[in-house]
Amino acid sequence: MIKRGINKGLPKPHQAKCHVRKNDLVVVIAGKDKGKMGKVLKVFPRRGRAIVEGVNLVKRHTKPSPYSSGGIIEKPAPLHVSNLMLYCPKCKRGVKVAKKFLDDGTKVRVCKKCGEIIEPKE
Ligand SMILES: [Zn+2]
Repeated sequence: MIKRGINKGLPKPHQAKCHVRKNDLVVVIAGKDKGKMGKVLKVFPRRGRAIVEGVNLVKRHTKPSPYSSGGIIEKPAPLHVSNLMLYCPKCKRGVKVAKKFLDDGTKVRVCKKCGEIIEPKE
């Protein structure tokens, strides 16, 4: 089934930009989990949202299934990337990022304050 109109008003996939990526360490700067730190589990670039480990937890009442016993489970819900800042291990705080090209042509994100390269380790 094709759902028409569900992506109306959203940017095209190649236009969607996000300063956070999967496996990034981020700091929450707004909302009920302000000040919390966590790892990015998933990013939805077109919606400008991301799921961060342990942040914005919601309670889900689940039915028992062969895979889980059911009951009330807490899981992280997506939050807007404007509420997130990339964490710089050198500055020990959330920072703004700049883009830089290395000598071998790879694009990396660097801390605007100290110039440290911020890329999650594989
Ligand atoms: Zn820094």
